[in-house]
Amino acid sequence: MDLHDTYRQLGISDEVYDFGETVLEGLKERFEKIDAIAEYNQCKVLAAMRKNKVDAACFYASNGYGYNDLGRDKIEKVYADVFRTEAALVRPQIVCGTHALTVALSANLLPGDELLSPVGKPYDTLEEVIGIRPSKCSLKEYGVSYSQVDLLKDGSFDYDGIKKAITEKTKMVTIQRSKGYQTRPSFSSEQIGGLIAFVKKVKPDVIVMVDNCYGEFVEEKEPSDYGADMVVGSLIKNPGGGLAPIGGYICGRRDLIDRCAYRLSAPGLGQEVGASLGVMQSFYQGFFLAPTVVASAEKGAIFAAEIYGKLGFKVVPEGREERHDVIQAVELGSKEGMEAFCLGIQKAAPVDSYVTPIPWAMPGYDDEVIMAAGAFVQGSSIELSADGPIREPYAVYFQGGLTWYHAKIGILSSLNEMVRAGLVKI
Ligand SMILES: *Cc1c(COP(=O)(O)O)cnc(C)c1O
Repeated sequence: MDLHDTYRQLGISDEVYDFGETVLEGLKERFEKIDAIAEYNQCKVLAAMRKNKVDAACFYASNGYGYNDLGRDKIEKVYADVFRTEAALVRPQIVCGTHALTVALSANLLPGDELLSPVGKPYDTLEEVIGIRPSKCSLKEYGVSYSQVDLLKDGSFDYDGIKKAITEKTKMVTIQRSKGYQTRPSFSSEQIGGLIAFVKKVKPDVIVMVDNCYGEFVEEKEPSDYGADMVVGSLIKNPGGGLAPIGGYICGRRDLIDRCAYRLSAPGLGQEVGASLGVMQSFYQGFFLAPTVVASAEKGAIFAAEIYGKLGFKVVPEGREERHDVIQAVELGSKEGMEAFCLGIQKAAPVDSYVTPIPWAMPGYDDEVIMAAGAFVQGSSIELSADGPIREPYAVYFQGGLTWYHAKIGILSSLNEMVRAGLVKI
């Protein structure tokens, strides 16, 4: 079928479309591998839903205190089974990933305790949570200290430094699976497992939390399969499958999750309260779709890496590299490049396709940030989106795509804008 006309309707030129098709020819095998992982994870999710006898009663809305909310209690069992943990907290009252991480940290760290990040600087919004940047209500204000061991130059763990940094005060270790707004590689679950084993050998009772944002369902195994005591993420990223309108999850050891529930609601109340207000169907259905949605996003990330890599831009990870999350960093080298790229993504959005993204100050971020997103769920980054802080090396972080075709169109549209702005020649 000749799609040139169709793509022209979207403003995408023949030469851009053709360039995309040439790149795609080399990606068949990669895509098959991704589909195989999606199939595996589809089985895993379905098995958990069958085991827990999910039925129509799970979708009823509770209100008020939300006592005896069967659907809410069951989605937590389903998550716990998929992540192979003792317990889970999966709630619409968790407003985003940063909130989920804040709950997990503040519930399990007490005054005098220390938090250690052995993988360098954590995600931007966590700087204020921890108190790396002074902030009201940070962990630091409550007497929780923080230490950090940076990655070695080659991106590997600094085991000597980590061993030295673990003291009798070290109560928790936080490991971020995905690169976030950095150009370091993301870690595989297995790599994280190696790090967990190391820190537990140095200090057996240390609690290991993994910031699992963007990593869910990219591999067959999750960090919780490798001994993480808690894994934490956002439902408007991978596990929400694009359908969850809000929410976050924390899966892990029963005693730790209990504390998280007390922190989220109130001491004494815990997990038994929290009305689901009618969002449960979207939680279940989104989780059910998540493995294939993640696969689509991953194909988009690889396509972007191959396209921009071929045009001489630095891309992290590279097209051929193994992938541990759905984020693709493309270093565009200039603010103009970031603007053109984001304009293309925005134009390809199903919602708000007519607006022009411009750099702006965002709460929780230190630099100005540009964001392209036209999502059904505001800020959802499992839907096609691109963003990045306006700072060296002027990298955009591209992610999402509820369908592979949408991801493909978005990337071609970004390239189209880059060509139009005279920033790249194909
Ligand atoms: C997105 C993200 C967060 C924060 O999630 P929000 O939902 O934006 O608050 C934390 N860590 C990582 C690695 C992320 O990608």
